[in-house]
Amino acid sequence: MDDWKGWLQEQGEPAFRAGQILGWIHRMGVRDFSEMTNLASPLRARLDEAFLLRSNHLAQVQGSGDTTRKFLHRLRDGRYIESVLIPANPSLYGEASDRLTLCVSSQVGCAYGCRFCASGLAGFARNLEAGEIVEQVMQAGEAARERISNLVFMGMGEPMANYDALLQAIRILNAEWGVGLGARHMTVSTSGLAPQIERLAEEPLQIRLAISLHGASDEVRERIMPVNRKYPLDRLFEALRYWADRRKQFLTFEYILIEGVNADLAEAERLARLAQPLRAKVNLIPYNTVEGLPWVRPREDQQEAFLQVLRRRGVTATLRREKGHDIDAACGQLRLREETAEGLVAPPS
Ligand code: SAH
Ligand code: SF4
Repeated sequence: MDDWKGWLQEQGEPAFRAGQILGWIHRMGVRDFSEMTNLASPLRARLDEAFLLRSNHLAQVQGSGDTTRKFLHRLRDGRYIESVLIPANPSLYGEASDRLTLCVSSQVGCAYGCRFCASGLAGFARNLEAGEIVEQVMQAGEAARERISNLVFMGMGEPMANYDALLQAIRILNAEWGVGLGARHMTVSTSGLAPQIERLAEEPLQIRLAISLHGASDEVRERIMPVNRKYPLDRLFEALRYWADRRKQFLTFEYILIEGVNADLAEAERLARLAQPLRAKVNLIPYNTVEGLPWVRPREDQQEAFLQVLRRRGVTATLRREKGHDIDAACGQLRLREETAEGLVAPPS
């Protein structure tokens, strides 16, 4: 808002026009400055010269109706990112509701290279700008013709490694003049960037935090998550205690169950010991096979036994049964597939 006011002032325009412009962009969802009919045409022309109103192009939608839908967004440099729209998923949240959750990307690719993850496979290309993050929400909402009620930063990329753009996007999404989504309905997921967790803890935003833990000992975590060498569990949990001291909301631990890696019951006991003092909730996610990677999920009775260990120790835990398997759309399954995408996409208009 202040950026707009500053620009308008330079143009000799009154500050209240900022509200008008932002209303057109976020409430009315206009795609062109020429549609802002309460602004004089010379101002519209100057806006058009100075700013790019929309930069993503919705290249493809997979899935429909009440199933999981995946959106492929083409960025203005020709790269692709994906977002996934997930209808209310009681097993994920532990309650029935009519919420519509969008899982958004924060980077093109990911530099963190977790061994099990599709997003990291093709490496890292670049950070997304705040506008490119916000546009995923606007485009998915327009395509679905429904209001998106919840947001999870669990798509492609490590949001905490793109901190400034992430925060700017969250502020726009949260603002009354913006998308108007409550911060409590947004969850940032991180593989464990301790300093950024502490920084986010100091922001006056009631955002939720999820940690992709996937191991309850340094030994297990190091095997599958290179980030653990930089921020081992001791350092990560120092940051999490800092977070928990400042926040009312519960922390969530995401824990993918991978056969022969992290799914034995001794690891479940260790996980319970980590989760309990922080009153963290654990989401168990059976591993989704990724083409080209060797990992598989444990048998269902093993998954169940892991869950029961946590529950016996008084930890709130759920076992997620993903939606959208059919279209490979489960959140956390997003990857760069530029060649495939090129074949599917009509030339940009
Ligand atoms: N980089 C952040 C945000 C991405 S979240 C983070 O790692 O938290 C994506 C989530 O999907 C993470 O919890 C990730 O560990 C998980 N994920 C990645 N590959 C997966 C797979 N093959 N099956 C199930 N979950 C997976
Ligand atoms: Fe990056 Fe998260 Fe995938 Fe790890 S799990 S490679 S941090 S997107």
